[in-house]
Amino acid sequence: MRTAYFDNASTTPVDKRVIDKMQLCLSPDGTFGNPASTTHSFGWMASEEVEWARETVADCIGAGPREIIWTSGATESDNLAIRGSVQAMRASTGRTKIITMESEHKAVIDTCSHLDDVDVVVLKPKSCGLVCMDALAKALDENTLLVSVMLVNNETGVVQPIQTIARLAHDIGAFVHSDLAQAVGKLQWTVDQLGIDLGSLSAHKVHGPKGIGALYVRGGRCQVAEQQHGGRHERGMRSGTLPAHQIVGMAEAYRLSKTEAYCEIQRLDRIRDQIEETLGDLGGVQINGKRGVPHILNFTVDGVDGERLMAAMPQIAVSTGSACNAATIEPSHVLQAMGLSRQQGLSSIRVSTGRMTTEDDVTMLLDSLRYAISQLRSSA
Ligand SMILES: *Cc1c(COP(=O)(O)O)cnc(C)c1O
Repeated sequence: MRTAYFDNASTTPVDKRVIDKMQLCLSPDGTFGNPASTTHSFGWMASEEVEWARETVADCIGAGPREIIWTSGATESDNLAIRGSVQAMRASTGRTKIITMESEHKAVIDTCSHLDDVDVVVLKPKSCGLVCMDALAKALDENTLLVSVMLVNNETGVVQPIQTIARLAHDIGAFVHSDLAQAVGKLQWTVDQLGIDLGSLSAHKVHGPKGIGALYVRGGRCQVAEQQHGGRHERGMRSGTLPAHQIVGMAEAYRLSKTEAYCEIQRLDRIRDQIEETLGDLGGVQINGKRGVPHILNFTVDGVDGERLMAAMPQIAVSTGSACNAATIEPSHVLQAMGLSRQQGLSSIRVSTGRMTTEDDVTMLLDSLRYAISQLRSSA
């Protein structure tokens, strides 16, 4: 059976050009050495690859190479940014408060809730998914150490006004962290434009390999304490032998997504318009969240259970809620935070496109949605 993949927000296939680049770092005649080995050319060569990758990723986000810390992915980066900054700076600043949002990824929310002796304020988004600036301004005070708000929501595609959030936070001396996992290649931004101090990155959301990511740490005042002890790699912030093949894979994936962003954004925008038009024709469908990135579309189909809708179109890969909490049938915490009822949450579907999405895939998706929704509605 031919299948069409519309779950690129949970992960993406690795681009062939990325695979080629990664392979060079794995074989005996390639750059397989330990980048931390300083006594022979195998180590030096691997280190050169890693530093090329560091400059490439830094360049893609407008940072300096010394501001990039390799991690295992955005989950670890979120943990390192939040736990690490609190540990490193609570004594020097005397601050003990973190502000975040209910619509954040679990890697942020759960990390915050596991911190001892920290006052965590979790803001409810408005029904469009955006932060409420008044609530943020009210919560910000001289005790606020960190504000953590993602740039692009992975379930709804909503884009937060990080620039404004960062300005407010900096005015009162707080640091700003943003989960950027869904924002690469889908929006034009740099860390300076956003004004953030910490940013979490992941490779596998942009056609790179799983298991590799980075944390952007602004040079200067912002510090993070290491969360695992060992060889004190990455200037003491993250120990562990650097996986050169994963790292060059991430860099090549970032380089490609930046180079191709302009055309890709327009192409994915057109696809989203096409999907929205079909959903409009079907009637009884609400799009969730303010229009954001081109590759994520979340919608609620009145009176149709999301699980049943997915079962009725087995050739189409989409998701309900987020794959990260797919083990339970609880409706998405993001949609609930935006005020959707439990039933509306359970009637919601996320469609996410990517570089490998073709016109044929889109036709298949739209035909399947039309057919499955009318079948389920007429049998209800
Ligand atoms: C996928 C995702 C993560 C988790 O990233 P990993 O690299 O898989 O750990 C975190 N935040 C957001 C917004 C994501 O989309």
